[in-house]
Amino acid sequence: MSGETIAYRPIGVIHSEHTTPEDTPAQPVYAQECLGRAEIIPEYADGLRDLEGFSHIYLVYHLHRAGPAKLVTKPFLQDVERGVFATRAPCRPNAIGLSIVELVRREGNVLHLKGVDVLDGTPLLDIKPYTAKFDRIEGTRNGWQDEVDDATARKRGQRGYRPKDAAQNPHARTLVRGGKEVTLTPGMTIAIASGKGGTGKTTVAVNLALTLGGPVRLLDCDVEEPNCHLFLRPKIKNLETVGVPVPVVDALACDACGRCAEICQFGAIAALKNGPLVFAELCHGCGGCLSVCPRHAIREETRPIGAITVGQAGDVEIVTGQLRVGEAKSPPLIRAVKKYARDDRVNIVDCPPGTSCPVIAALRGADFVILVTEPTPFGLHDLKLAVETVRQFGLACGVVINRADIGDSRVKDYCAAESIPVLVEIPHRREIAETYSRGQVLVQVLPEMRALFADLGARIMNWNKSPSRVAP
Ligand code: SF4
Ligand code: SF4
Repeated sequence: MSGETIAYRPIGVIHSEHTTPEDTPAQPVYAQECLGRAEIIPEYADGLRDLEGFSHIYLVYHLHRAGPAKLVTKPFLQDVERGVFATRAPCRPNAIGLSIVELVRREGNVLHLKGVDVLDGTPLLDIKPYTAKFDRIEGTRNGWQDEVDDATARKRGQRGYRPKDAAQNPHARTLVRGGKEVTLTPGMTIAIASGKGGTGKTTVAVNLALTLGGPVRLLDCDVEEPNCHLFLRPKIKNLETVGVPVPVVDALACDACGRCAEICQFGAIAALKNGPLVFAELCHGCGGCLSVCPRHAIREETRPIGAITVGQAGDVEIVTGQLRVGEAKSPPLIRAVKKYARDDRVNIVDCPPGTSCPVIAALRGADFVILVTEPTPFGLHDLKLAVETVRQFGLACGVVINRADIGDSRVKDYCAAESIPVLVEIPHRREIAETYSRGQVLVQVLPEMRALFADLGARIMNWNKSPSRVAP
């Protein structure tokens, strides 16, 4: 056995934003916001089946840029020499790395990951699910690491890595669109919302996506009535069913104590004489009833609430959420659609109309919100509600006025008084309405619209470079 060579073949490659070893965080805990992906070689793709059920996974990989092996080394967190096996330093006899990362989602043979502390291009050797049942150990000894205080550990553990400002993103690309230079910032999320339906929100989303083109992903979160795909007619590549967990009671194990009904804050369980009755449509999947059941008589099952399709329309990838007919709760599906946002794309989110919970779910995490309105009293009323909502979350926003030459100047006056920029104005023209009614896209038919949406794209992409920035 001694001296025997064991050879492994990589099962894939890990991609991340870390391009130099010295700027790569030392542990996932110091790389919590770092996104990445593992691309698995197709011949191993069947092995990924069922992995989505785990929130975290172990990545086992070859530290391909590690220096020569040492048996005694200074770890990243401390200037004291330690035996290499008492550290996680890369310079080890077998240059094997191990990270626990969050599995955000799987797309075919690609795993989208968060908390990635791995150098871009690292060969992946194995994947194993992390499970708290087996792997969480209480009351551990932490050796020399207890000598390093948390602040020092964080500072040293991040190494040269600094979270990137969108304006300094090295993956940014400058394109010429409608005669204008537009610098796209991948990872940026632009949400398009309106206080009410029918203001032209989808028109703005679709035309902006096509104008920016290339590295753009359009997420249709208007899941009760998604319609971006009607204009873009994507070729569908992937379909996913989305469900929510709901409790199911084992009548044989239940002794009808009623504790599950007591804890449920949503009226989703009624305590009856012979045992609880579950109203699955009211359940918010909080798991409270499971945790209080003294007889372990409750388990969870997944109740489908909708589906997500991923399609390609030219350069634009479009992700569409479609809520099941009669389903009342759309936020879980909206959150599932938003998981498809990609760090290497500009993500455009078409939000549901209004200002209620589904809109909040769609707006969360946006870098910029475009509020689409009309210059009418109704438009102004709903715009005010939308601005209030956006401001609750401290999000930057700007306004697009659709059918700009109807109505009066009150929307503009309001925007001026509130220091909200009017980004562009879409005129009220018969040919625009005709193009829309034929299911065609404005920027593909009307040349002046190409310039208008290029202007919109440039203004948003440049918002964080402006000295005044767009007022939140
Ligand atoms: S999971 Fe939560 S919301 Fe659903 S029935 Fe149990 S306690 Fe109520
Ligand atoms: S808490 Fe458990 S045992 Fe009690 S009523 Fe609910 S399901 Fe039955």
